[in-house]
Amino acid sequence: MSVVFDPERRFDLSVPVLVIGAGACGLVAALAVRDAGAEVLVLERDATPRGSTALSSGFIPAAYTRFQREKGIVDSPEQLAADIRRKNHGEADARIVDAVCRASGPTIEWLADRYGIAFVVVDGFLYPGHSALRMHAVPEKTGTALMTALQGACSSAGVDLLTSAHVTMLYAERSGRVRGVAFTRPDGSQDEVGCNALVLACSGFGGNPEMVRRHIPEMADARYFGHVGNQGDAVTWGVALGAAVNDMTAYQGHGSVATPHGILITWALMMEGGIQVNATGKRFSNEHAGYSEQCLPVLAQPGGVAWSVYDARLHQLGLRFEDYRQADSLGAIKQGDTAAALAAACNLPAPALRATLAAAERYALGEARDPFGRDFTGKPKLVPPFCAVKVTAALFHTQGGLAVDERARVVDDTGRAFPNLFAGGGAARGLSGAHVWGYFSGNGLLSAVTLGRLAGLSAADLGRF
Ligand SMILES: Cc1cc2nc3c(=O)[nH]c(=O)nc-3n(C[C@H](O)[C@H](O)[C@H](O)COP(=O)(O)OP(=O)(O)OC[C@H]3O[C@@H](n4cnc5c(N)ncnc54)[C@H](O)[C@@H]3O)c2cc1C
Repeated sequence: MSVVFDPERRFDLSVPVLVIGAGACGLVAALAVRDAGAEVLVLERDATPRGSTALSSGFIPAAYTRFQREKGIVDSPEQLAADIRRKNHGEADARIVDAVCRASGPTIEWLADRYGIAFVVVDGFLYPGHSALRMHAVPEKTGTALMTALQGACSSAGVDLLTSAHVTMLYAERSGRVRGVAFTRPDGSQDEVGCNALVLACSGFGGNPEMVRRHIPEMADARYFGHVGNQGDAVTWGVALGAAVNDMTAYQGHGSVATPHGILITWALMMEGGIQVNATGKRFSNEHAGYSEQCLPVLAQPGGVAWSVYDARLHQLGLRFEDYRQADSLGAIKQGDTAAALAAACNLPAPALRATLAAAERYALGEARDPFGRDFTGKPKLVPPFCAVKVTAALFHTQGGLAVDERARVVDDTGRAFPNLFAGGGAARGLSGAHVWGYFSGNGLLSAVTLGRLAGLSAADLGRF
């Protein structure tokens, strides 16, 4: 049973605020709780907190930060919200989009000023749908480094973090008030802890094949590239309590994972002029629609694979990313002085690849229009020597989850907030609407970090004894 309704339940140990999950959402929520002057305990199922956050590129969208202003970048929360809405066709909860966009800049500046986390604005290219440079990352530009920074902040802020603590059950009253949780330890023993407020930061259900098959059948047989410990527990508990869940069909996919190496290849290559071809050497889509929705056309190609084709200029751009460097060192990147040489290196038909590259050149020069609708102008044409990497598609994380209000309070179908239950990140309904094409680059960490802070602040209000 996932939730036990027991109004009399007493606990030997109780904490003001309990957070389940130590990814970006949970750690930021915990920092917000501490900053508001309340005590907090984070329970994490793994021995070492990593989550999908550590697997990610660690790029967090935020608008109107001083880091942007220092670089002369013009942006605003309204502009970010408009970009997100354009991508999801207005399908997401507009109040949450607005609240998150408003809080995004202050949250990044708070993490920098209060906890000394260094942020830089990622430049050199714009992600699909972004009208301004606004991806913020720690200088290493990896999710692992982001996690290290957040964990360092938590330890200096006095956040209690208990690892190898797998929460299996919630104790609640019929009113929906959560009283505490049970968690198991690696030796099989079970412990319990009570709480005044509970933040669900245990992400989505990408690691649960049965739930993926039920809600996202189109990706049921695709590779899952996120954290396997994300089993959909927040949704399971929330539903048992009577919470609303929305957009369970939504997810972040990706159409550019080097195969067989299993390494993310930055989409910057496509945004700055690269193309994708299939085993016949032909393009099959508009690569600028978005890397998330690109998972479906890639999976539909022969063998479920494609080749990302670009040139030496873009290879240099790729080398600015840690995972690309890793792919390069493992020999995933093929090179050829001519289209024919590249075709030979990739076992692609040379005449078709040559024709595809020639067509792309005409699009870049404005001499012809791309039948898939991509605007190639404004970026340099691809020139020899060429590069290519064989890629497949993957499910990165799920975007459906618990409905929340602007304060990250979990709500039921009528919009009524649960008395002491909060959610953010992959545990909460995302900002992408119900479809894969609604995912705006960065929606994942935007929700994890910003809703995480909002959830922490709200929980702290209940958590001060
Ligand atoms: C390869 C890759 C690249 C990505 N790049 C980006 C990017 O650059 N920008 C972006 O915005 N998004 C990106 N994403 C998405 C992003 O990583 C996620 O949206 C984000 O990390 C979610 O944060 P979270 O804190 O909600 O979940 P997580 O970071 O997954 O943390 C959840 C934690 O909860 C723990 N947990 C789960 N269940 C329990 C339980 N029952 N008891 C105790 N603990 C539990 C898990 O072990 C985990 O540590 C990427 C994803 C992938 C896979």
